[in-house]
Amino acid sequence: MSARVRFAPSPTGYLHIGGARTAIYNYLFAKANNGTLILRIEDTDLERSKREYEVLQVADLKWLGIEFDESPEKPGKYGPYRQSERTDIYLKYAQMLVDKGLAYYDFCTDAELEAMKERATQEGRPPHYDGKWKNEKYWEEAQAKLAAGEKGAIRFKASQKSYILNDRVRGRIVFPENMVGDFVLIRSNGQPVYNFCCVVDDMLMKITHVIRGEDHLSNTLRQMMLYEAFDATIPEMVHVSLLIGNDRQKLSKRHGATSVNLYREESYAPQALVNYLCLLGWSHPEEKDIFTLQEIAPVFNLDRFSKSPAIYDIEKLKWVNGQHLRKIDNEILVKQLDAFIDSGHWFHKQPHDWKIACIALFKEQIQFFQEIIPHLEALHSKELVRDEKLNEILSWPTTPQIAAFLSKELEQIKTHYVEAATFNQWMDKIKTELKIKGKPLFMGVRVSLTGHDHGPELNQLIPLTPVDVLKARVKNLLT
Ligand code: GLU
Repeated sequence: MSARVRFAPSPTGYLHIGGARTAIYNYLFAKANNGTLILRIEDTDLERSKREYEVLQVADLKWLGIEFDESPEKPGKYGPYRQSERTDIYLKYAQMLVDKGLAYYDFCTDAELEAMKERATQEGRPPHYDGKWKNEKYWEEAQAKLAAGEKGAIRFKASQKSYILNDRVRGRIVFPENMVGDFVLIRSNGQPVYNFCCVVDDMLMKITHVIRGEDHLSNTLRQMMLYEAFDATIPEMVHVSLLIGNDRQKLSKRHGATSVNLYREESYAPQALVNYLCLLGWSHPEEKDIFTLQEIAPVFNLDRFSKSPAIYDIEKLKWVNGQHLRKIDNEILVKQLDAFIDSGHWFHKQPHDWKIACIALFKEQIQFFQEIIPHLEALHSKELVRDEKLNEILSWPTTPQIAAFLSKELEQIKTHYVEAATFNQWMDKIKTELKIKGKPLFMGVRVSLTGHDHGPELNQLIPLTPVDVLKARVKNLLT
């Protein structure tokens, strides 16, 4: 049987990074196994679910590179793919359990249920349902009430034995007996309840593996009871460890943005976010830490999940972003910068080759493409900051000699930029004519032409700096 997995977000907000990570794992598992990835929208909470959120979440998933084989937009043969459109199915399946004697109609009022709970707590019993409708002898009365148009909830008769789950990540989990009482499948207003919808859908959509966050482990016991009631095989359960902050607390906004759209707005590369999220709780068989979805898919498997919670570290993510940035084609980055920088900026007047050369040079030093802008601005700065380091270099007798030489050479340049070859000739001449070499040569030239004692390779940087700026810097130094 080929693998069928699903990502089942609730459209009650933006796509959370934890949800994105679950989606990535499901996507990779489907790809690695030639399986099918399904998007199921879990919008049974009618008050909190919004179609706008569904649209935004789908757009973020797409931005991350996650495509679905079956979804509301691309229905397969197991639809509909939105739970709000499957109410009839849930009612039918709930009725099947009633007919089998495994569920019953419950007409207790909220006040009665509350009183029941209180009594149990006072008597030191677990607050399980013990209302009269549980008792078969009232089931006929229940039918009469229904026939008279009264609305009742459908409640499942929870089995009180213990259950064992062999989770692919967590191993053998024993749920002791008597843990949950009879639980509602369909509310008296006709609304189905999450655990029930989830089981009916996973069963009907022929889901083979449920890969989801560990926070859903507490739902699994009820879900196991329901699979049993339907005589269905429970899918392989893969509960992935939770994301936590570097203070080991539950991940929250304190630790950085928690929704994918914010990373998108801050111009993270989607492949970097995917790469980083994938490594939170899963590791590459060859311990690689930089890869794309396409590269990782063939080696993805369920055996490399870690049981311990994964620490979300935004600094590491930024580093990963920088690694991916270096791999992006310079032409694409030029396009991104063209779109990003205000239309009146001098950047737009520069030749294309200049833009490409700047990107090639500076992208090694940045983590986000827009961080290139201060580097570009610096190419135009004529300012000389005379700090201690600089004063020391200026105190060497060779430095003014170099500056004077460069000033003369620059006077002869009539173009807007100087060629790298010309710059190399200057270096040769300083060596042969001024007899300056080594550190005094390199530092003297650097300080004279850039005003700084460190920076990128001079023969790449100088041809990108406007000649009038170079002239001004040398002049500043000599005065
Ligand atoms: N709708 C649930 C959520 O958004 C997912 C449930 C599941 O994967 O079983 O957390």
